[in-house]
Amino acid sequence: MTQGQMQTASLRIIDILRFAASAHPKREVVSRLVDEPLWRSNYRDVYARVGSCANALRRLGVGPGDRVASLAWNTHRHFELFYAVPGLGAVLHTANPRLSEDQIVYTLNHGGSHILFFDKTFLPLIERLKPRLPNIRTYVILSAQSSPAPYALSYEALIRQEPSNFDWPLIDENFGAFLCYTSGTTGDPKGVVYSHRAVVLHAFAAGLSGAFGLSAFDVVMPCSSLYHATAWGLPFAAPVNGCKLVLPCDKMDGESLQALITEEEVTFTGGVPTIWTMYLAHLEATGEAPGRLQRVVIGGSAVPRAMASAFKTRYGVTVLQIWGMTETCPLGVVATPTPALAERGEDAMQEAIWTRQGRLQFGIELRIEDEEGADLPWDGESSGALLVRGPWTIQRYYLQERDAARPDGWFDTGDIATIDPDGFMRITDRKKDVIKSGGEWISSIDLENAASACKGVKIAAVVGVPHPKWEERPILIIEPLTPGAVSEAEIRAHLEPLIARWWMPDRIIFDMAPLTATGKIDKKALRSRYASLLVSDR
Ligand code: ADP
Repeated sequence: MTQGQMQTASLRIIDILRFAASAHPKREVVSRLVDEPLWRSNYRDVYARVGSCANALRRLGVGPGDRVASLAWNTHRHFELFYAVPGLGAVLHTANPRLSEDQIVYTLNHGGSHILFFDKTFLPLIERLKPRLPNIRTYVILSAQSSPAPYALSYEALIRQEPSNFDWPLIDENFGAFLCYTSGTTGDPKGVVYSHRAVVLHAFAAGLSGAFGLSAFDVVMPCSSLYHATAWGLPFAAPVNGCKLVLPCDKMDGESLQALITEEEVTFTGGVPTIWTMYLAHLEATGEAPGRLQRVVIGGSAVPRAMASAFKTRYGVTVLQIWGMTETCPLGVVATPTPALAERGEDAMQEAIWTRQGRLQFGIELRIEDEEGADLPWDGESSGALLVRGPWTIQRYYLQERDAARPDGWFDTGDIATIDPDGFMRITDRKKDVIKSGGEWISSIDLENAASACKGVKIAAVVGVPHPKWEERPILIIEPLTPGAVSEAEIRAHLEPLIARWWMPDRIIFDMAPLTATGKIDKKALRSRYASLLVSDR
């Protein structure tokens, strides 16, 4: 074997920001904050602050290999920790504040950080949890004001006294950089440790034209949470591409997003479907237009077709559906056009894109398997367990003794999918959400998609509940846009031409849809809430 003769510099996360500071020094970083005015800076000055932050961390005793925890929103201070902590060789554990209190305690203790950075919003939570967090020795409030809690230091006071120069250590690209926990819908949350290499490669890939297609003219606003799979890598993909970055804090309501989208001239944003339901409702109610917005990347759960078409036909905004998971950093596939689809005409192309999760991307291989583990054909019909593999796919969960992926790297995602001859993947369900009725499968995602296109529906959720004759039958839970906005008869009439007769839900219930810590419909909660609904049916 001939050895390559090129340089072997490690792929380090800090070099992304160092690059942006020298190539795009004046490109803005704008942030909303908790109880503070809008903050405006640029990559050069943020990089300097990241240096000060790293010096402060070192003074607090943080060194390579340590974990540092955050409980924080999408702000520039959290963004600074995204670079300072991995920059000095430590691991940032972005704790998810939407988990239950027991799960937050579990993940913080399991993660083993000695220091916790938190936004002011979480002060009451920290007061309650503090006695249960024996490892945390230092608390830092992410604020410019002096800390209202005697035990917590103030972030701005801490970094103000530090020089901005920091000699970033040479670290192995396979070192851990982030610790992200899954939401633990079954069992305890599991930790996934992202390496520098995975994050940097993922940042390159995310910007490609077949994925997010970012350029230096873009203004990027991540509305996916920084604590959930690093906001889909946007805090890295934006500076790699010299994009202006806008951080919305926790203000994800339609009006707040619209203010930033129009005033900061956002061209690219992304988040889970529930955020965009609220945003579209805001545009509809006010008659406003989405400024210069061009693309919205949506994932985390299936994008209702009606949402993608509303963005396009009413506002000329392109929806890019993505599928991914915490275990894949999280980008898996992205729904973007190809020449093969374009040849079939605009309408057919849009239809294909709106109804599939996305297409193959370089860096992540896909495979579907039947129950015996045999490969299924890519015919768009055969559905089976979806497996993935690649340099930003998990090998093993944090502190587990056994690999999560197979010896050859394939990781079973827990999703059921089809892949078509164009290389587009479609999720039909999560394994645990599939409805088995009379020996046949009903896709809860397809049913939800059909129901959510009915006028007056805000959220449609379908779960299977036990049925004495059919094993399970689907029920449909509808959260209307406003009380009484839609009736059961209207929903049934809307569904009839769209679905097979035996897919028609046995009951339609008007209720609030509970959401998980990652903004998805909490189907486990719905299943248990309605477990005995059909047991007397025959
Ligand atoms: P959680 O902790 O809620 O599991 P993840 O983000 O890791 O958080 O969830 C990943 C799962 O979300 C995937 O396995 C899949 O079931 C679902 N998912 C993500 N994106 C999509 C999508 N576009 N369509 C359907 N399901 C999706």
